[in-house]
Amino acid sequence: MLRCSWCMKKIKENDPVFGLSVKFAEGVDYSDQEGSITQLWLETRNTSVPMIVTTADSEAKEDGSDAMFALCSEKCGKKMKETLNKETTTIKEFKDIYGIKNVQQLSYFNDFSSAC
Ligand SMILES: [Zn+2]
Repeated sequence: MLRCSWCMKKIKENDPVFGLSVKFAEGVDYSDQEGSITQLWLETRNTSVPMIVTTADSEAKEDGSDAMFALCSEKCGKKMKETLNKETTTIKEFKDIYGIKNVQQLSYFNDFSSAC
């Protein structure tokens, strides 16, 4: 089961989802956890949030993304972006993933379905 990386609300398979793709800062490496959902520590929020690590052969990786966040609404996406702006030791850059409407499409984009 996927959860919103901001408010922790459960996101069901056919619920709308907003994807945020991130690129790690220099020296940050989660490649041993690719394809799984792990926790990313956010210094500025003093908590960790669920993060999907991109698999090496996925479409997301080809697009330059190291990991992804699933968010339940645009509002959560906006707050997440504000926070990521401050997390410069772990996050180099981030962008919206367009054209993703639900969890199924997100898992097609990056094969983490086995981790759910
Ligand atoms: Zn949310």
